[in-house]
Amino acid sequence: PWQDDHGDVHINRGYRVEFNSALGPYKGGLRFHPSVSLGTVKFLGFEQIFKNALTGMPIGGGKGGADFDPKGRSEDEIMRFCQSFMTELYRHLGEYTDVPAGDIGVGTREIGWMFGQYKRITNRYESGTLTGKGLAWGGALVRPEATGYGAVFFLQEMMKVQGRSVDGRTCVVSGAGNVAINAIAKLEQLGGTVVACSDSQGYVYDPDGIHLPTLREVKEVERKTLEAYAERRPNSQHHVRGNIWEVPCEIALPCATQNELNASDAARLVANGCLAVAEGANMPTTPDGIEILRQGGVLFGPGKAANAGGVATSALEMQQNAARDSWSFSKTEAKLAEIMSSIHEQCAATAEAYGRPGDYVLGANIAGFVKVAEAMCALGLI
Ligand code: NDP
Repeated sequence: PWQDDHGDVHINRGYRVEFNSALGPYKGGLRFHPSVSLGTVKFLGFEQIFKNALTGMPIGGGKGGADFDPKGRSEDEIMRFCQSFMTELYRHLGEYTDVPAGDIGVGTREIGWMFGQYKRITNRYESGTLTGKGLAWGGALVRPEATGYGAVFFLQEMMKVQGRSVDGRTCVVSGAGNVAINAIAKLEQLGGTVVACSDSQGYVYDPDGIHLPTLREVKEVERKTLEAYAERRPNSQHHVRGNIWEVPCEIALPCATQNELNASDAARLVANGCLAVAEGANMPTTPDGIEILRQGGVLFGPGKAANAGGVATSALEMQQNAARDSWSFSKTEAKLAEIMSSIHEQCAATAEAYGRPGDYVLGANIAGFVKVAEAMCALGLI
């Protein structure tokens, strides 16, 4: 329960699914979005188990969230909801038990309000209870960038196998949130040109390449729609509720939400000569979409491998918290790149061993599953 600015009372439903702790404490994000249901949280938690196993870090799998809609709510209202949510959730958390992070609708600001409430209730400054914290209060450098950067590192590894690179390629990235913005930043650093990105209201096409400072200003500071981006960049066009996958590209990174790239989108990408798709979001490509990409010879990095950089860097944040230490940006980014390369290697080697070279979906599923299953058996079938 929480009270809005007019004093009216609202009730939302919150969830935390603690799915598997064979490899470490439950770990996975919290999502605030009106679409959140037990089913959503369970599929995300299930995926999280195997993703976390692939990182090689000591973390189990879980996920959580609430059907609270932060859109149109004031800062005070969101803070009151975060505090109410944590008032119930805190009893299930702890650095050795369950360690949530952010996801859609939950960034550093919301993690701060939830961490503050946890501290208030427990009277303990347990930094390792939540990740994605602000730098001044226990957070780690590179955590905000990690999922987007990691997805691009994974993409780079896939392309390297074919003797290709990101440099000079035309890219499309869906979403305009944490994952998308940081994926765009890394693609641009590596010489790619990102010509389109999207949000829940439509997409923007900018033939000159997405101008990152303008995008950050509109989405991170002003929290407006991409229409405001198009108003400031005269060469760009805003397409209200258009389909971003109609924009021709060589590299496509779905970084918004689940089921956002279906079979006809995949067919369009193939027809337009797309070379590679790496999932920054969780399960953005539908199963028939994945099949069409596979038949079309498009490299495909599934989310449980390609977007694992976020949770891996969360585990690095936990390490730094436990040691009361903080690492430099370059050290942490190098560690992230190393982890993504190792995830790629595990997926590729497993796919090869099971007779399906280049099938990163099969490689990621089997490599993650085997690690968890072996640990469960070793711990006495728990
Ligand atoms: P954010 O809330 O920061 O951004 C989400 C973006 O996607 C926003 O631009 C939002 O639009 C857009 N979006 C959300 N829902 C829809 C929809 N139904 N249709 C079209 N666009 C939509 O979330 P994140 O960037 O953190 O997460 C994006 C994806 O990445 C999710 O699938 C998440 O589970 C996954 N992920 C995130 C990780 C992280 O570290 N944050 C780690 C691993 C995976 P608008 O701006 O209008 O709200």
